[in-house]
Amino acid sequence: MTNLTPFLDRNQAYADGGAYKGLTPMPKHQVFVITCMDGRVDPAHFLGVGPGEALVYRNAGGRVTDEAVREVAFIGAVTEMMLGDEAPIFEVAVIHHTNCGTAFLADENFNRVFSATTGVAGDELEAEAVVDPHQTVKADVDTLRSSALLPAHAVVSGHVYDVHTGVVETVVPV
Ligand SMILES: [Zn+2]
Repeated sequence: MTNLTPFLDRNQAYADGGAYKGLTPMPKHQVFVITCMDGRVDPAHFLGVGPGEALVYRNAGGRVTDEAVREVAFIGAVTEMMLGDEAPIFEVAVIHHTNCGTAFLADENFNRVFSATTGVAGDELEAEAVVDPHQTVKADVDTLRSSALLPAHAVVSGHVYDVHTGVVETVVPV
């Protein structure tokens, strides 16, 4: 019995249900979600993303880091290789949320201690904090849109998910 055991039990039910059958690596909808790793912020729940329906990339805050940009570029390159000019337009949806735990990075005491632990500069850590999701999601959409690595057949939108109402608000349309 480990912490994972309850979920492994559920996996057996999933395997028995067969929802995984016939799925392909290319998602059914041309959507690439970037959002937070927070357990309340799973697109499978708040967006109803089913098996094989969309690509989902999660990190602390749902930030458009260099790594996140690279993953978008990767999907762009793969679809272009497979489909060439036929590659469909895909939408990268950046979704930040209220009450995000990354706000700790903006807390003076936490920031100082964590900076010492990780060796990452305090202001760099603070820049990763999502304190005002409306502001950070706009900044991250700008970052992705202005990246030289953004695939030609990608568009970007920005949204805020409110963990207290369950509602997603579109802040930056495509
Ligand atoms: Zn978060």
